[in-house]
Amino acid sequence: MNRHWTTRVNSREETFEFARTITADLGRGDVIGLNGPLGAGKTIFVKGMAKALGMDDPWQELTSPTYTLQNIYPLDETLIHCDAYRLQESDQFLTLGWAEQFSEGITAIEWVDRFLPEIKTYLTAQVKIEILDKQSRDITIVSESEKMESILSQYVIEKENGSK
Ligand code: ADP
Ligand code: MG
Repeated sequence: MNRHWTTRVNSREETFEFARTITADLGRGDVIGLNGPLGAGKTIFVKGMAKALGMDDPWQELTSPTYTLQNIYPLDETLIHCDAYRLQESDQFLTLGWAEQFSEGITAIEWVDRFLPEIKTYLTAQVKIEILDKQSRDITIVSESEKMESILSQYVIEKENGSK
């Protein structure tokens, strides 16, 4: 059963820190799917993940793979950063071979909604970012993972159990 947790952040630094904190407990094979409108903070979230994995300055070093579709960073653990924004057909996910490389590191995929049916079984968690105003976001983590439950229990303001 999926659980979901929501936390409110009020700056891009808070989004970064939240991502950094929860990524510290992730491991090889974990796959994080990110959703939210353009400018929500999906790439900022992945910058925080990169920090947790040992990147010195993700604010400068990590860029969105919108055109390259994916960037791979060899860090303490490999970070595979994918962006599905430009995928035309959801089955491109299969032909690109993304699923085959999940075991090679920790993967973050922006716009995962574009091919959710194909990828759902691989996801450790979905991260949904909702824009409230210029600086504030509600970040909802949806996951079935027990590990996520223990990671998140300390950081969230609201927890619900349900089928969402
Ligand atoms: P996305 O990848 O979802 O399209 P980005 O991460 O590239 O979005 O950009 C998010 C933009 O929103 C950045 O310009 C960032 O500075 C701004 N921003 C403002 N508040 C926040 C916040 N709380 N979390 C993340 N980004 C924020
Ligand atoms: Mg982005």
